[in-house]
Amino acid sequence: MEQHQTVKAAGGLCAKCGACTAACPVFQVTGREYHGGRGKLHLLSRLDPHEASATYADILSRCLLCGACEAVCPRGLNITSEIVAARGQLSRRAGEHGFLRFLTRQALTHLPLTRGLGALLRLAAKLPADSGLRLRLNLPADSPAQAATPPAPVTFAQHPALSYFAGCFATHLQPEIASSTASLCRKTGQPLPVAASGQGCCGLAAYAAGDLDTAKQLARRNIEAFSGYDIPILTSCASCLSHLSRYPDLFAGEPEWQDRATAFAARLREFSTFLLAALGAKAATIPPADQEPGQRVLYHDPCHLRFQLKITGPPRALLEKFPRVRLTELPHGPQCCGHGGLFHLAHPALSAQIRDRLLADAATTNAETVTTTCTGCLLQWQQGLVAAGSQSRALHLALLLDSLLP
Ligand code: SF4
Ligand code: SF4
Repeated sequence: MEQHQTVKAAGGLCAKCGACTAACPVFQVTGREYHGGRGKLHLLSRLDPHEASATYADILSRCLLCGACEAVCPRGLNITSEIVAARGQLSRRAGEHGFLRFLTRQALTHLPLTRGLGALLRLAAKLPADSGLRLRLNLPADSPAQAATPPAPVTFAQHPALSYFAGCFATHLQPEIASSTASLCRKTGQPLPVAASGQGCCGLAAYAAGDLDTAKQLARRNIEAFSGYDIPILTSCASCLSHLSRYPDLFAGEPEWQDRATAFAARLREFSTFLLAALGAKAATIPPADQEPGQRVLYHDPCHLRFQLKITGPPRALLEKFPRVRLTELPHGPQCCGHGGLFHLAHPALSAQIRDRLLADAATTNAETVTTTCTGCLLQWQQGLVAAGSQSRALHLALLLDSLLP
């Protein structure tokens, strides 16, 4: 009820300009006013989520939490927070999100189960391309998860100077990302990143489902896990980073945990920004361009990095250091990939529509390689390129740079 009063106030502040609607990737595909930020805020200001119908819950679930609406809102309204808070109030009976909230809690709060999920996904990666389970898990047919033997985990140091938040994907599905991150640190003379034991899921999926209790539980576990050493925390996943950076807001009204979360967030280091600074003198050893035309590379901006953390320059600056890379851009500028964490599970057809618009734009660039630092975006690209029969590949920026840097 209290949240409804807050969102009623936010609805009153809305200038109804429609900038958020035009920017919304869901609206761009469906053309429905109620799918954009303005429409959702309007609904929230009129209807208390406690009394939500299944239709109302379904509308609220059709949001990627990408933040594109907030980035253009002249009133600075915090639209995604209002949507998350409303999702938290939906009853289990009200639409798919009740189920997703349940699924998230089950899968992400228990580390053994999460490890089991990773094993399941590895197994699922070996399923035939037309397997319903494979499609449900949204794994591409030639997913790198098919690698039979995962590489060795990141080396632990006796006296760590850099810690590493791996995230679920690099821990359970593509440990090559963690290995390449460690390899890049070694090549650039940085300390080896230490994966703090006890760390788990960042909690973004629970947060997105409106399950703030679970999100806080996961956040506390991570803050505790990294509390042993007061050293920087490198993370190679953009979405994890965006949510880890949100921890102080998550603990609003809990001063002790908010202070700990603030100290934790201050230690976070974004992958490309960190590596760009680390490259330094090592850049002189990068092989020059040769007779062959360079590899055409498209960098995909994860929405969480672009809108929430406003980091778009460092990944491009990093790639431009490599003469054998020909960096290309989308003709209509960066776009959402449509993954949105749980969104792609709840709305696979809509997610694919958003993805396919992006793929069509990307095809005009003739990029041979698509790279990004968000593991959700990466999965979406990998699946989309396979579904489109494209010869292009998508891989994490850590893997690409590790292959290019001597
Ligand atoms: S967060 Fe993204 S998907 Fe959700 S309403 Fe805003 S622009 Fe649309
Ligand atoms: S951009 Fe902001 S002010 Fe304009 S319609 Fe959207 S929420 Fe309202």
